[in-house]
Amino acid sequence: MKPAVHRTGRIAIVGRPNVGKSTLLNRMAGMKISITSNRPQTTRHRLNAIVTEADTQMVLVDTPGFQTEHGGELNRLMNRTVTQSLDGVDVVLFVIEAMKFGREDRKLLPLLPKNIPVVLIVNKIDKLVDKSVLLPFIAETSKAFAFAEIVPVSAAKGTQVAHLAKLLKPYLPEGPPQHEEDEVTDRPERFLAAELVREKLFRLLGEELPYAATVMVEKFEMQGQMRHIQIAIIVDKPNHKAMVIGKGGEKLKQIGTQARIDMEKLFGGKVFLELWVQVKSGWADSLKTLKSLGYE
Ligand code: GDP
Ligand code: MG
Repeated sequence: MKPAVHRTGRIAIVGRPNVGKSTLLNRMAGMKISITSNRPQTTRHRLNAIVTEADTQMVLVDTPGFQTEHGGELNRLMNRTVTQSLDGVDVVLFVIEAMKFGREDRKLLPLLPKNIPVVLIVNKIDKLVDKSVLLPFIAETSKAFAFAEIVPVSAAKGTQVAHLAKLLKPYLPEGPPQHEEDEVTDRPERFLAAELVREKLFRLLGEELPYAATVMVEKFEMQGQMRHIQIAIIVDKPNHKAMVIGKGGEKLKQIGTQARIDMEKLFGGKVFLELWVQVKSGWADSLKTLKSLGYE
C-alpha cells in the first residue's frame, strides 16, 4: 500500500476590516482563539491558529484588516503586520463580504501575491435573502484577479467551511507536521487573556472608546489549578477611565466576568481575574509605549 501523504502549510487570511477574517479562523480552528466584534480594527496583532488533522496540519495566519484611510503610528504598525504575514505562506485567503466588493477591498488587490494561490472567500452568505444574486456577483468579482478558487461561506454559521478546508488541502506542500497535536496557537496564554479583555472593550463600550484603549498583563501565575491574572486597561483620557469603570463599577465588572468565562473555556481551567484602569495619554501615537505594550 502506498504510504499516506501528509501535508503541512501556512494560510494567511487577509481582507479589509470587519469582513469576518477572525470569525473564519475560529470556525476553521473549531474554537475561539482570535477575538471578533462588529467594529472594524478589532484585530491588532498577528496570530496563528494550528489546525491538526490525520493527514494535514494547517497554520492559519490571522491579520489586522488593512487600513487605508487613517495614518497614525498604530495603523502603520498594523499595516506592516499584514504585509509581513504574507511572507512564506502557501495559500492566501482573500475575504470579502457577499454583495460588497468596494473600493476598500479593491485597494488590496495589488498587494496580493502573484506567485502563490489566492482563494477568494465570499463571506456572510447567511445575510442574503435572495441567494440567486450570488452567482452574478461571483462572476463579476472573479474578473478582478486570477483567483485559484472562489468559495462562498458563512463563517458565523459554519456553512461551507468544512468544504473550504478540504478544498485547501491539495494546495499545501507535502511535509511532516511542525507542531504538536495539542498546540492550537503560536500565542501564549497571557497574550490570549489580554486579547479577550480587549474584545470585551470592543463589545461593551460605545463608539470611539475601544480604539483609545488597550490592555497590559501585569501578572499571570498558576496557583495550584487556578490561573491568577491581573490586567491593566490603558486609556487615553481621565473621562475614558470613568466610562470603562461605569456607574458603581458595573461596566468593569461586566468586562471582567465575560472575559473570565471565555478564558476558562479556552484554557480549560479556573481563572481568577483582576482588572483595573490606568490613564496613559497618547499611548497610540507613541512608538515607545506601543512597543512596551507588545505591538511589533
Ligand atoms: P475581521 O475584522 O475581518 O476579523 O472581522 P470579525 O471576524 O471580527 O467579524 C466582524 C463582524 O462580522 C462580527 O460582528 C462578526 O460576528 C460578523 N461576521 C463574521 N462572519 C459572519 C458571517 O458569516 N455572517 C454574519 N452575518 N456575520 C458575520
Ligand atoms: Mg479580525
